[in-house]
Amino acid sequence: MAFSQETIDQAWRRAGGKCECTLKNCGHTGRCNKVLDPRNSTLGKKWYAHHVVSQDAGGSDGLDNCLILCVGCHENTGSYGG
Ligand SMILES: [Zn+2]
Ligand SMILES: [Zn+2]
Repeated sequence: MAFSQETIDQAWRRAGGKCECTLKNCGHTGRCNKVLDPRNSTLGKKWYAHHVVSQDAGGSDGLDNCLILCVGCHENTGSYGG
């Protein structure tokens, strides 16, 4: 499963259009807060709706499991592609 567009929209609004990543292995301190382009597209993705708990591990498609991440941060997650 993937997030519904509604969930992604809600997560986007919660994120304020900025990367929500708080991973320590990215190099940023605290939250990334990179400003993201709202005009995301499947070609040339600018940000990702990321599953915090991967679907393989039983993660849900709910808003609480959805993080808006910039491309660089998404590559730093352990479940890249999820
Ligand atoms: Zn980021
Ligand atoms: Zn990050």
